[in-house]
Amino acid sequence: MKKLFISLLLLPGALFTACTSVPESQQPQHVDYMLTNGTIYTVDSSFSVSEAMAVSNGVIVGTGTTQDISSRFSTDSLVDLKGQVVYPGFIDAHCHFYRYGLGLQWADLTGTSSWEEVLQRLEEQRRQYPNTDWLLGRGWDQNDWPVKEFPTRADLDRLFPNVPVLITRVDGHAALANSKALVLSGVTAASKVEGGRVVLQNGNPTGLLIDNAVDLVSTKIPAPDLQEQTTALLEAQRKVFAVGLTTVDDAGLDLSTVNLIDSLQGAGSLQIRIYAMLNPTEENMLRFFESGPLKKDRLHVSSFKIYSDGALGSRGALLLNPYSDDPHNHGLLLSQPFYFEEMAKKLHANGFQMNTHCIGDSANRLVLDTYAGVLGEHNDRRWRIEHAQVVTREDQQKYSRYNIIPSVQPTHATSDMYWAGERLGQERERTAYAYQDLLKQAGLLALGSDFPIEDINPLYGFYAAVARQDEKSWPEGGYQAENKLSREEALKGMTIWAAYSNFEEQEKGSLEAGKVADFVVLEKDIMKIPVRETRDTRVLHTIVGGKKVY
Ligand SMILES: [Zn+2]
Repeated sequence: MKKLFISLLLLPGALFTACTSVPESQQPQHVDYMLTNGTIYTVDSSFSVSEAMAVSNGVIVGTGTTQDISSRFSTDSLVDLKGQVVYPGFIDAHCHFYRYGLGLQWADLTGTSSWEEVLQRLEEQRRQYPNTDWLLGRGWDQNDWPVKEFPTRADLDRLFPNVPVLITRVDGHAALANSKALVLSGVTAASKVEGGRVVLQNGNPTGLLIDNAVDLVSTKIPAPDLQEQTTALLEAQRKVFAVGLTTVDDAGLDLSTVNLIDSLQGAGSLQIRIYAMLNPTEENMLRFFESGPLKKDRLHVSSFKIYSDGALGSRGALLLNPYSDDPHNHGLLLSQPFYFEEMAKKLHANGFQMNTHCIGDSANRLVLDTYAGVLGEHNDRRWRIEHAQVVTREDQQKYSRYNIIPSVQPTHATSDMYWAGERLGQERERTAYAYQDLLKQAGLLALGSDFPIEDINPLYGFYAAVARQDEKSWPEGGYQAENKLSREEALKGMTIWAAYSNFEEQEKGSLEAGKVADFVVLEKDIMKIPVRETRDTRVLHTIVGGKKVY
């Protein structure tokens, strides 16, 4: 420690001596390592491509041609990239990192092609983990099955009469519980909950719970202990490093998780950078309104995540006009309008960013107008709308007028495109997943995945944004092709614009001198190869703070 201090003190003097004694040819600065002969997409303001980069103490100290960098810097560790392609580390501007980690211990029901397959996977999970108190699963989507009706508890009761079962729909806005779980949670036909519904058939609960009704059961699941929580974070980290993520925006954390993240980062075991969006709990508000936003090397706590409505798939998204396939249903507002206004005022007064989940056009309007009333026209508060999924053309303009950031997830477009038209009707569908329209208004987009609702791989998002096709290149030409993003826009959305949406564009999001050395090396150049190949491009290395983590 003392030695480092002395060498830091000596540094300016040493430079000064070098400058005065050899004025023409400056001595090359010694750095930890240099990358040369690569294709380095810096994503700087002119979107320039460099060949070489020098890194010291976890920070980029220079980029340029191989010749330029080799003459300005010296090192004992020279890495010849031999043409390999480098990008800034990917940022997922909206995901559920911690929940994903916990969910790795759940039955994965994503991609099931029938209800029977869901049952098979649950039986398999039970064989693997016969002793867990609850049998939990997530990720089913009845829209992918031959029979598109919601399932009921009958088969779960038959297969699992003695263990409580709760399986959550892919969007997290609906879940199916078996009888054991309903009884343990005290849910009956008479149960009522604001912003949610216990679905009944012939006067009895079918087991299906919509929106806030899911909490009636999920809150009864025993909480994971500290060891399980730690495992969740470390396992999630291992997975996301393998797909090139270096920062994740975790959309909704409680104080205990923020504290655990802080301590694991402090101990060095958790190296991923986390932008934490806090849940609007009393505990979080008490703690952080007192101290203000928190910014550390790898943890930044500066925002609250609020929910306004449900999801489109389960018809919980709040629409101005009824669902095209359910003419008596407008969806659900999860809290009264004054709640959003109160939250906006509180967060504004305490210097926090407000990030609100808005899917339906009515929810988007309500929250945009609430933001507008508190923010006014000229502001740098960078408040975000999470998802911004269905937004009327009139409301799209509010993004630029009030400097509001659309935080969108391109894989939602390609997951929902098969049935979004049924829910919305043709005309309204044109204003959904309108990423290019939103970009034109807002000037930037923060891109994310919303994993575990979607896959963790940011290149799936890149491909979905640019091609607007599924993995089978369907539909030809792309879904609502006028809303495609260019490759440059998509890359910016997952790097520099995402950093901006976190108030971090000065320190990350591009590869420039002075910024942290967070970068990825990909097997191919996603800016040049045929677009269908971008989705499955492999990550060769992931580097965080100058250190290889994958
Ligand atoms: Zn989310």
